[in-house]
Amino acid sequence: MSKKVLVFAETKDGKLRNISFEAITVGQGLSEGGEVIVSLFGPEASQYVQEVSEYGANKVYLLEDESLSTFTTDAYTQALCQLIEEVQADVILMGHTAIGKDVAPRAAARLGLGLASDCTGAELENGNIIFTRPIYAGKAFQKKVFNKGKVFATLRPNNFDIQKNPNESEVVSFQPVIKDIRTIVKEIVRKTAGGVDLSEAKVIISGGRGVKNKDGFKPLQELAEVLGGAVGASRGACDADYCDYSLQIGQTGKVVTPDLYIACGISGAIQHLAGMSNSKVIVAINKDPEAPIFQVADYGIVGDLFEVVPLLTEEFKKALV
Ligand code: FAD
Repeated sequence: MSKKVLVFAETKDGKLRNISFEAITVGQGLSEGGEVIVSLFGPEASQYVQEVSEYGANKVYLLEDESLSTFTTDAYTQALCQLIEEVQADVILMGHTAIGKDVAPRAAARLGLGLASDCTGAELENGNIIFTRPIYAGKAFQKKVFNKGKVFATLRPNNFDIQKNPNESEVVSFQPVIKDIRTIVKEIVRKTAGGVDLSEAKVIISGGRGVKNKDGFKPLQELAEVLGGAVGASRGACDADYCDYSLQIGQTGKVVTPDLYIACGISGAIQHLAGMSNSKVIVAINKDPEAPIFQVADYGIVGDLFEVVPLLTEEFKKALV
């Protein structure tokens, strides 16, 4: 049976985030020939219409209210709830991003819906929607079958293929009623300077306590620049004040699934693995041949990261010119 799929398209720094395109492609697969409706929030929303149409949006809802110009939990939750009711969506998809993690459970609870969060797979089987999601810190995967009612899910970034499917989207303006916002955004202060977004990076070079100090991250930064990647860290490195907590990957940090994850001087504690073990290719560099990180690594290099990382950087520079 054809379905109406509502996708919350997320923007950051004036650009649509990749997860928005992943969600549109997933939505098309789940709609069974129905409609993929994409929502865009904020006064600048109309500038993204063309792009979401190229990826296959059938309809685009613009919520251009001034109160949606920067994210607040209250405004976004109210707007999303009203939109879900307005379009009578059968399936609602958001990224499992900071915004998705905040808004999706609230909206689901307010509307009395279930929520499959942090999904890494989505498929249709005999008309049922089946989401796959990691449990027990990524040690096992659970399949959630939805066979009736509305379906609400957040999707883990970097886990779904993106396909372009250009469409002439119908554009609809929707004015939500937003009131009682309890937070005021006065200023946005960035903890990390520009660069590639860690949660959507295709290549991540991560440092652990083995980097020894703040300067120890420099060779990792150089390698990341050559590979067009981002720098991450273990909690060990963050706790030791070698880097900012915004770089932390793991159970209590960011969950990432890049194509290539290079762990440098990271022992491989279970809490770290929870954030990166689904990476497509894992390379570990560690002095200790018994380090647990080697158990999940596709390639292991036993050696001093301060010797190995600069050599890798030099070789990649030669290979990539
Ligand atoms: P260590 O375990 O000290 O490992 C350092 C490694 O560097 C060693 O294997 C050593 O052989 C190697 N090394 C040293 N020098 C060199 C060198 N020159 N060249 C190459 N290798 C070298 N951790 C996370 O990462 N993310 C989380 O989200 C997280 N959440 C947690 C939540 C809870 C509730 C708890 C209790 C812990 C959590 N932790 C988390 C902490 C986790 O248990 C580990 O303590 C932490 O991951 C260890 O960081 P590390 O591997 O950098 O340090």
